Amino acid sequence: MGIEPEQGTKEDDKEDTTMAYVITDECVSCGTCEAECPSEAISQGDEHYVIDPDACVDCGTCADACPTEAIKPE
Ligand code: SF4
Ligand code: SF4
Repeated sequence: MGIEPEQGTKEDDKEDTTMAYVITDECVSCGTCEAECPSEAISQGDEHYVIDPDACVDCGTCADACPTEAIKPE
């Protein structure tokens, strides 16, 4: 007879509710996403377009609109 290890039903609560979309190097700076974004979270950066994670409402519109699939959920 021994002591059973605690078997918790604890689940990892790692889900971040402030998740945003990110633009990768596949961006060809066409500007489509900027025009489509409802919250004006997208602007032109140095190398390619960038998403402001504070402004992004995570709607996914830009990812659908991007012709090179450069936008991914982070
Ligand atoms: S997910 Fe929506 S809100 Fe966020 S950058 Fe893309 S279009 Fe804008
Ligand atoms: S739609 Fe895609 S390729 Fe065009 S600017 Fe946005 S991220 Fe870049």
